[in-house]
Amino acid sequence: MSEDNRPFGSRTRAVRAGTVRSQFNEHSEALFLTSSFVFDSAEQAARRFAGQEEGYVYSRFSNPTVRMFEQRLAELEGGQDCLATASGMSAILTLCLAHLKAGDHVVCGSNVFGATVQLFSNVLARFGIEASYVQGSEPAAWRAAARSRTRLLFCETPSNPMMEVTDLEAFASLGRELGALTVVDNCFCTPVLQRPLQYGVDVVMHTGTKFLDGQGRVLGGALVGRADFIRETLLPALRTTGPSLSPFNAWVLLKGLETLPLRINAQSASALQLARWLQSHPAVARVLYTGLESHPQHALAQRQQHGFGAVVAFELKATQSEARPRAWRLIDAVRLLSITANLGDTRSTITHPASTTHGRLAPEVRQRAGISESLVRIAVGLEDVEDLQHDLERGLQA
Ligand SMILES: *Cc1c(COP(=O)(O)O)cnc(C)c1O
Repeated sequence: MSEDNRPFGSRTRAVRAGTVRSQFNEHSEALFLTSSFVFDSAEQAARRFAGQEEGYVYSRFSNPTVRMFEQRLAELEGGQDCLATASGMSAILTLCLAHLKAGDHVVCGSNVFGATVQLFSNVLARFGIEASYVQGSEPAAWRAAARSRTRLLFCETPSNPMMEVTDLEAFASLGRELGALTVVDNCFCTPVLQRPLQYGVDVVMHTGTKFLDGQGRVLGGALVGRADFIRETLLPALRTTGPSLSPFNAWVLLKGLETLPLRINAQSASALQLARWLQSHPAVARVLYTGLESHPQHALAQRQQHGFGAVVAFELKATQSEARPRAWRLIDAVRLLSITANLGDTRSTITHPASTTHGRLAPEVRQRAGISESLVRIAVGLEDVEDLQHDLERGLQA
């Protein structure tokens, strides 16, 4: 979206991109809550079904409200096109159904979202697709995990909750070398803070459920990339299998995107302030946040991100046996932060990864991933940062 070939900034795109008005010339985007569309004639119906004429047919694969969301998100990511899905997980599923077949191999970061690992290991494995997991973000380790049938490289950066950063340029270049599709889960940064396509990554995957909605209301997901891949490879798979985004959810997400740049920048600024304060707190052993100079990949994050995001993790000072009760006492003492594993909301949340999001992992796997019993993760919302600090101080003294 541009005028006189001068590209618009994120804030302009967030409120303007993708809008298409109906015959009524409404200012705010319309919600087309309809499952199907009517044709002028039998001949037009036939042309639409055959794909010989542009136009809407049936909302499993074409709906104007969903399309507006797709185009707005594509513009924000700097991608040619976008395909919306019912959730973040169904975005990954659709991608795998469309791109992989039995005998193919996937290389995936070991630090990705838990359900992503379960999808590869428990579901797709039954259909003959194998996955290997790589610790850390060293390109050499990723290359070593590749096989002749490797068709997909999947990473999430920064990762949750350890905030490991993957070098996007090196990741994309390895994908090209191996002839494998590179996919980045861009949940934590959103297109406002990081645009992986700029670095040569093939596909950006999103959950709409977190920062894109930003207000904890709906599930949604999306895949952004080259137009031919989206329209000719991904869309046919979605059209047939049906994990499609509801027009209602698309409308909520479309509205969510309008305030995304303002929200994520404000939430990141508060997160940095809290991370610095936590780092100097006597009850805190260490803080994991890419915005701190103490983060081992701070320079890389600074190079490829336009900000550090709203999620901060920290470890409390405690002996081995005291660690879990210490973390739980903090969580139980706070009154403002919500105890929930969700993130990306306007309301700040707090969680204990070792007993919730990562509780089902075997203890040694959890330990290898660095998720200790004293680790607490907060996702900073839009409250006054002084109020959040006061609330956390109460917990740290508990
Ligand atoms: C929540 C989440 C997902 C899955 O998204 P859903 O919309 O819940 O299916 C994927 N990746 C990350 C990083 C997430 O936080």
